[in-house]
Amino acid sequence: MTESWCYPIQAANACPECSKTGKPVQQQTVTAMLAFSLRKVQAKQYLFCRTQTCPIVYFSVNHEQTFTVEQVRERVYQKEPEAQDVFICYCFHHTVGDLRAASSEDRTAIMDDLNTGINAEQCACDLRNPQGSCCLGNMHSMIKQLKQPDFTAP
Ligand SMILES: [Zn+2]
Repeated sequence: MTESWCYPIQAANACPECSKTGKPVQQQTVTAMLAFSLRKVQAKQYLFCRTQTCPIVYFSVNHEQTFTVEQVRERVYQKEPEAQDVFICYCFHHTVGDLRAASSEDRTAIMDDLNTGINAEQCACDLRNPQGSCCLGNMHSMIKQLKQPDFTAP
């Protein structure tokens, strides 16, 4: 039974900027992504903020440290889901634009290639993807979105 009423207003896993619940990431993801000396990394446990409009990418569980989009070496798909040249798949280098421009056959081929890569253990999502986990879910939802009928030329 959840008793959310008794939790403090600003939970430890809520982003200090947008208050949305962050997703725990491994420390190696944060250290791989940061664009400055790791001597500045103080906390051990970080969460990833997925809110598009929020500038914070990582924050520590105790809210002592936050890292923004400017401090991360990669552009973050969740923060710029409309940008054509941002990666959605960081391991096999597929951009939002690639996926948009692809025909439905090409998209199937991209997904096949992705699955082949995953099965061959060629991905390194924890080090290459800012979210610290596999892009597969993002790819599936974007492809699903692209399948929605568009009302261009009849
Ligand atoms: Zn946030």
